[in-house]
Amino acid sequence: MTQKNIKDLSIEELSEFVIDNKFEKYRAKQILDEIYIRRQENFEEMTLLPKELRSILSKNFTISSFKSTKIRYSKDKSVKFLFRLLDDKAIEAVYMPWENEDGSKIQWRTLCISTMAGCPLKCAFCATGTLGFIRNLSTAEIIEQILAVEKMLNIKLSNIVLMGMGEPLLNYQNVVKALSILTKQNLKLFRRKRITLSTAGIVPKIYEFAESKVPTKLAISLHATDNHTRQLLMPITKKYNISNLMDAVEYYYRKTKIDITYEYILFDGVNDTENDIKRLIRIARRVPSRVNIIPFNDISFTSPNGFSAQLKPASKEKMKEFANKLKMNNVPVIIRDTFGSDIEAACGQLALSDEKTIYTQN
Ligand code: SF4
Repeated sequence: MTQKNIKDLSIEELSEFVIDNKFEKYRAKQILDEIYIRRQENFEEMTLLPKELRSILSKNFTISSFKSTKIRYSKDKSVKFLFRLLDDKAIEAVYMPWENEDGSKIQWRTLCISTMAGCPLKCAFCATGTLGFIRNLSTAEIIEQILAVEKMLNIKLSNIVLMGMGEPLLNYQNVVKALSILTKQNLKLFRRKRITLSTAGIVPKIYEFAESKVPTKLAISLHATDNHTRQLLMPITKKYNISNLMDAVEYYYRKTKIDITYEYILFDGVNDTENDIKRLIRIARRVPSRVNIIPFNDISFTSPNGFSAQLKPASKEKMKEFANKLKMNNVPVIIRDTFGSDIEAACGQLALSDEKTIYTQN
């Protein structure tokens, strides 16, 4: 029998387990404290628990999801992690320290985490999409990226973004379970508003997430303002068009009262016209929101063809001009920095360049 990772269990499931094994219910909370507060990585070291319970836990569960980790440090202080999972699949996480304006201190310590190995959505601008879908990550594998990075860098992260490999809303159950553990009040890990889930626009799941107990900040990977261009960039648009997506976003905002972020990679000659600006203003005014303009990370290492091969980044001047026109129309906008361009920090880049042999073998 393959053992389950203990971090795959919710508090309710842990309570059931301890009661089934004739221990009192409060032991479940102690187990959570040992894992998430004291950060124990070995059942034997969980000294809050009686010896007998420790031994039952080690017989029934594993506690670690990663076989090994590769780390790359960038000149800009971001750090990229490549985690090898127990079945040899590889996933990435990127740590990004956001400094205050004069650079005197780090304001936010953000980690971008993965929710899948590979991704089925095949967005034209994304290296992960070229891997195809490999598998969903378990709840434990999602959470462990955070615990591992905090331990390795000896830091407390302030923000989490689910924006790495994979579409989080297509791994809904495991993602929501991970979010409910990460935001559990007494564990004091993260508040919901410090977590951002980024989606390509899985419309029915946006409604479901709005109704869940753990809605977080929501970022929409928009990248185009008309269906034709968006279909070329993001084939998921064929299934859920922009109008359906905007209805879902409006519902999410009305239900949660959390402002929306639109992610917009600016491509030269593709989505940077005056009409795009007009449509983007209309979209952004529908509910309180802001637009993040993102530079395009080079994907030439994937040997792109077709539409992907034609994609070129917009110039810095064009990005500024585009952002200014949005600002003049009262749309909050920022131009995002690119982190880690010297360490293959684009989503999927490290996994693809470093691990291609493993993916093609399996
Ligand atoms: S951009 Fe996101 S949703 Fe699109 S292929 Fe890449 S990982 Fe998947």
